Amino acid sequence: MKEVKNPRKPLLYYYGIVLLILLLFNMIIAPLLVQKQVIQVDYGTFMGMIEDKNIGSVEVGNAQILFTDKEGTTIYKTGAMNDPTLTERLYAAEATFGQEIQQGTSPILSFLLSFVLPLVIFIGLGQYMGKKLMEQAGGKNSLAFGMGKSSAKVYVQSTGGIRFSDVAGEDEAKESLAEIVDYLHNPQKYADVGASMPKGLLLVGPPGTGKTMLAKAVAGEANVPFFSISGSEFVEMFVGMGASKVRDLFKQAKEKAPCIVFIDEIDTIGKKRDGQMGGNDEREQTLNQLLTEMDGFEGNNGVIILAATNRPDSLDPALTRPGRFDRRVPVELPDLKGREEILKVHAKKIKMSDNVDLHTIARMASGASGAELANIVNEAALRAVRNARTIVDQSDLEESIEIVIAGYQKKNTVLSDHEKQVVAYHEIGHALVAAMQSHSAPVQKITIIPRTSGALGYTMQVDEGDKYLMTKQEIENKIATFTGGRAAEELVFEEITTGASNDIEQATKLARAMITRYGMSEAFDMVAMETVTNQYLGGDTSLVCSADTQNEIDKKVVELVKRQHEKAASILRENREKLDELARFLYEKETITGEEFMEILDEKGGRVQ
Ligand code: ADP
Ligand code: ZN
Repeated sequence: MKEVKNPRKPLLYYYGIVLLILLLFNMIIAPLLVQKQVIQVDYGTFMGMIEDKNIGSVEVGNAQILFTDKEGTTIYKTGAMNDPTLTERLYAAEATFGQEIQQGTSPILSFLLSFVLPLVIFIGLGQYMGKKLMEQAGGKNSLAFGMGKSSAKVYVQSTGGIRFSDVAGEDEAKESLAEIVDYLHNPQKYADVGASMPKGLLLVGPPGTGKTMLAKAVAGEANVPFFSISGSEFVEMFVGMGASKVRDLFKQAKEKAPCIVFIDEIDTIGKKRDGQMGGNDEREQTLNQLLTEMDGFEGNNGVIILAATNRPDSLDPALTRPGRFDRRVPVELPDLKGREEILKVHAKKIKMSDNVDLHTIARMASGASGAELANIVNEAALRAVRNARTIVDQSDLEESIEIVIAGYQKKNTVLSDHEKQVVAYHEIGHALVAAMQSHSAPVQKITIIPRTSGALGYTMQVDEGDKYLMTKQEIENKIATFTGGRAAEELVFEEITTGASNDIEQATKLARAMITRYGMSEAFDMVAMETVTNQYLGGDTSLVCSADTQNEIDKKVVELVKRQHEKAASILRENREKLDELARFLYEKETITGEEFMEILDEKGGRVQ
């Protein structure tokens, strides 16, 4: 365990410095007071004293001469003159030469001046810098140096006038939050019935779905101050700082109530405490402080805490129990309608031509988050400017979807002729297999222009609408489509390339999920073999089965993918002519649309249903 430093301990430090300063003052001032006086005399007096042999020691400088009387009690000073015989006469007067005459500067003093003073300055500077650093870290908290009250950082922010209407889609979340707004407007209504508002609400969902926006919108609608801090800001390099920041934040919030406190990325401090040795003390202290503060204020005092996270399952149960963050507001990825609305909200900010069809764009951008959609619109506007246009059109938006999905077009990648052919066949392989299976979504666009993401080409499939359920058949067809690219390469070139690595990954993932999570294999029936651990971030899974079963699963996965691969190969074999024709067309044009693809496919022979 790390030692927990008492934040007040450095008080000693200050006493030490004060003592030192006092000491110095005494030592410097005292000698000054008892310092021997230097008497200014003219050169004549000096010569007279030489004649009287009343000279002790002499120090001849360039501009002045210092000398003492015989007893050495008084120091005299006179200007230097051009006096070549001076040395001889002084010698005759038995004066001592070459000895430095102490002008009151005692050795102790010079030691202090040359050694102790710089040290003090050094320490003082160190203190100052330390404090500055802490302020930079956001703490502004001199507690750590025992100077009492923290100079409060103001966490309150302007919400930029964000309203619910700025957040498109997410109707369920808005509904849940509208109650909070109503409460902030009229707390009495709730108090009369005896209802108390939840102290904390947890906004959970994937990144970029508008959680921060929603929190700001609540503050904006209720017209109350908005305190915002990110969980990571609590975790400081100094132990105890996080906890004092939490105290600080809540103190300010209570003063400003009613208000909204928003804690982003709460999982950084709210992770499950595992009780292991050597855990993160600082984080735990901060979390404990947060829990204490939340328990400390009564409901209905007007402070509502909103927190956001994209890993709700990693949160400490203490945080989510009743009385703390007891209401959970899911903020999911937008569906088709939601995507269209988000696009509309962001399209308002830019000049867009009338022919733009946002519905199509929304369909193409399946799976995109609100932040990505905002990005797509902005990329489109940038592209319009690049092409010296003043208005954004459909092609800008379509291209920018590809930029967001696949990266920019890579201008300097030169594929050899053969490679280009392989890529063309590969992509047509995907598209043809997809089109030939009645349940697969139609193709929107196929391109073999290399992208910065590393993709040499891709087939963009577009769902007609949102799908909430997928049948076993549909998943199998999807796997077949993923294998279609490689199948085409095998069929035509009788060789295989590295180009299918991503397809392989995706196909395997689907096949695995069918068996371990969806209960779509006879062997395991409805038994879960995997659990999803990270729902909103990639959906990692962990196995929960014996090693034997694992073996079995692996075999089943291979079987499943193999079967679909064979199916894809046979589809392509049966449609070899179409495959060649389409691949040639794509090879020449580099980008073809879904319609062009279907036209060629339907020309003669028609689709196999
Ligand atoms: P989160 O906090 O969930 O990660 P943010 O609230 O920070 O996401 O959203 C980032 C940006 O994405 C916003 O500034 C906004 O431009 C855009 N955005 C996200 N969701 C929406 C939405 N539902 N409506 C409009 N814009 C959105
Ligand atoms: Zn592929």
